[in-house]
Amino acid sequence: MYRSGIVKLTSRARFSTICLHAGQEPDPSTGAIIVPIYQTSTYVQEALGKHKGYEYARTQNPTRMALERNIAAIESGKAGFAFASGMAAIGAIATLLKAGDHVVVSDNTYGGTFRLFDKVLTRYQLTFTYVDTSDLDAVARALRPSTRILFVETPTNPVMRLTDLRAAADLAHRHDVRLVVDNTFASPYIQRPILLGADIVIHSTTKYLNGHSDSVGGIVVAQRDEDIEWLGFVQNAEGAILSPFDSFLVLRGTKTLPIRMQQHSANGMALAEFLAGHPKVEKVYYPGLRTHPQYDLASRQMNGFGGMLAFDVGSIDAARRVLDSVRLHSLAESLGGVETLISHPATMTHSSVPPDRRKALGITDGMVRISSGIEDVEDLKEDLAQALDRI
Ligand SMILES: *Cc1c(COP(=O)(O)O)cnc(C)c1O
Repeated sequence: MYRSGIVKLTSRARFSTICLHAGQEPDPSTGAIIVPIYQTSTYVQEALGKHKGYEYARTQNPTRMALERNIAAIESGKAGFAFASGMAAIGAIATLLKAGDHVVVSDNTYGGTFRLFDKVLTRYQLTFTYVDTSDLDAVARALRPSTRILFVETPTNPVMRLTDLRAAADLAHRHDVRLVVDNTFASPYIQRPILLGADIVIHSTTKYLNGHSDSVGGIVVAQRDEDIEWLGFVQNAEGAILSPFDSFLVLRGTKTLPIRMQQHSANGMALAEFLAGHPKVEKVYYPGLRTHPQYDLASRQMNGFGGMLAFDVGSIDAARRVLDSVRLHSLAESLGGVETLISHPATMTHSSVPPDRRKALGITDGMVRISSGIEDVEDLKEDLAQALDRI
């Protein structure tokens, strides 16, 4: 089965062209320019032992496989595997581990990832150490002979702390450890971890890759041949595949990823600057601001600074005022869609994190998070201004 690489593109094809075309060919039966939704469970075989490479739809589906080739090319990786959710994708990566193995994880990792590691995988004699991966000395101290994976998110949610991916990859590889990067928050337009040395990239396609808040999915992009072989085997063996319809939606989403990300970044920057200059706002978290402690790393590692930002209005009451008063910003969890979302990490996305741990991570009660969409930014600023006036 053809699973990876760039279909009909030259090796010099640039990013936007890859997003639009990689992994897709006109449908062989009709010439349809868009890969059809192959909504089928099985494929008729011509004769015993004679088929077209498709036997059963958990194992092979043309819509899903087109998406997998597309995102593998977008992330500059060798092969992709699409799953029913971002968590299913992370679960598949975890099957690279065996009892007794150890993993070092960004302390401020996505809540669902922490829950999977802490509540499920520790039952299988796997151990996890959570460290601030922006501090590579701390990472080095956490490594053990049994460490197999360094699992990193950058920037982190919602305090926007960065990890130097190239340095993390070098450190991991010196210790024969794989670097796995959850690239959901940034998107591959902003950074491509494999080009910086990562071995595996995972995405919740629910966020920027699909981009339209109408699908839940995940993808793993791998680089090492032994990982590719195992992940393909596990995708079929465990069966948590992405459906044909969701594959179609994400494939449509990736066509516009570059222009969406340009607008998300422009709006993110404009909102961060607006908030930084507002008297009711105590602090703004955005890697594109020169006041961000890792602004230099962000400028080096990221292509634009993305659509995610957070700000602190000092107290839960003030935060509630803002959240109750916004009209164009939708109060919701999730991120990466074309509509601007606003949320309160302490009581929403991070409510399962114990208060003392939240404090240590810098997630305050007055913190508000924004996933800036692609609306006209003047409308977003006006909405925030009238909401902040209520404090
Ligand atoms: C949403 C998210 C996930 C989980 O993805 P689902 O599609 O919700 O299962 C993992 N990591 C990050 C950074 C996320 O934002």
